[in-house]
Amino acid sequence: MNPSDTERYRIGSDPSPVSEAAAPLDEFIAEMRAETPRIAGFPANLDFGFSRFAGLLDIFATNVGDPDSEDKAGVGVKAMEQAVVEFIARLANGDPDHTYGYVTGGGSEANQFGLDRGCELLPEARIYCSRATHYSVAKSARLMRKELVVVDCDAQGRIDTDALAGACAADTGRGAVVVANIGTTMTGAVDDIDAIIAAASTAGRVYVHLDGALSGLILPFTPMRESWGFIRPEVGSVTVCMHKALGMPLPSALALCRSELVTSQVAGEYIGAADATLAGCRSGLAVALIWHALARRGTTGLASIAQNSLAMAEHAERRLAEAGMRPTRNPSSIMVNFDRPAEWICRKYHLATVGERARIVTVSHIRDEVIDELCRDLTASRSVITGLIPQSH
Ligand SMILES: *Cc1c(COP(=O)(O)O)cnc(C)c1O
Repeated sequence: MNPSDTERYRIGSDPSPVSEAAAPLDEFIAEMRAETPRIAGFPANLDFGFSRFAGLLDIFATNVGDPDSEDKAGVGVKAMEQAVVEFIARLANGDPDHTYGYVTGGGSEANQFGLDRGCELLPEARIYCSRATHYSVAKSARLMRKELVVVDCDAQGRIDTDALAGACAADTGRGAVVVANIGTTMTGAVDDIDAIIAAASTAGRVYVHLDGALSGLILPFTPMRESWGFIRPEVGSVTVCMHKALGMPLPSALALCRSELVTSQVAGEYIGAADATLAGCRSGLAVALIWHALARRGTTGLASIAQNSLAMAEHAERRLAEAGMRPTRNPSSIMVNFDRPAEWICRKYHLATVGERARIVTVSHIRDEVIDELCRDLTASRSVITGLIPQSH
């Protein structure tokens, strides 16, 4: 954060004239619009526009309690939410009639919801995940005071199932709650669900939570479509982010689980609704925009988004190889990892970095021209390092 921003946004005790309070927001919007084409390192699709529905900003829509439960407030968009849950449940190979779900404030909350369901089913179990797992899983384990067992990855970045079997063998009889990544955060690796179930069963009963925050809207349109999601009975819950592949102006995700894992009951007199969610009031704005984005595209529109993103990832991988950046990419992944470039390039393209590697994600707003510009910058910067171009250039 820029120190001048602190001054720019300071809130005083007297009211500000409307124009004065609006200017910083207008400037922020303009800055973000200018920056958007080059935001390449984080997996949010920024190719969207919802300003036609600005009217939503002048109403209060909140879904409190379960999507299928009436509430006293009655100012929500629960019918839209039910349609969204049904649609995403199908994409995740679930039976919509036996799937509970709701729109959360993001993937972390959806992961916590799923892990909470697993830990309630198997109260003695520890939680297992790979080193490549998103940090929200560690956060959830901490909040639930559950032990987290982190195991190594194989060469492809998937959970090492031999290591998992070894860890679970020490817990015979306790059962196991295992996180399977459907697209790890850095490399988009997809864990082998069957192998996880086989490995973890040395602990007894197995509950698998699928973290499909990242690739949950990509995999249904790849050769892996039939092997992911609720196909296996051990899979109890699934997370799918909405602000990543789909594109949303606010963080949001779907938390899904098998209906039998929730006991819906009216929590209290106050809202008058059954509530198995982790939240209180939930954003009706997010629900309405997600509903629109999905309804407008349908399954075939989502398939095009996924296929275009995968094609762009392949293109980026090829161009980065030509630029000598040693790119790597997992099957059915829109993440391309490559050698970490100079700091100014990381900043210019908002790259995610871990150690000596950097990453781009080819979500819909990443176009050919930006990949070209990135590769030109990479080549120029390497030339500086190797002395081909004088430093002052
Ligand atoms: C982004 C992401 C999350 C968390 O999502 P938030 O919306 O940031 O809470 C969880 N898991 C994976 C794999 C992710 O990529």
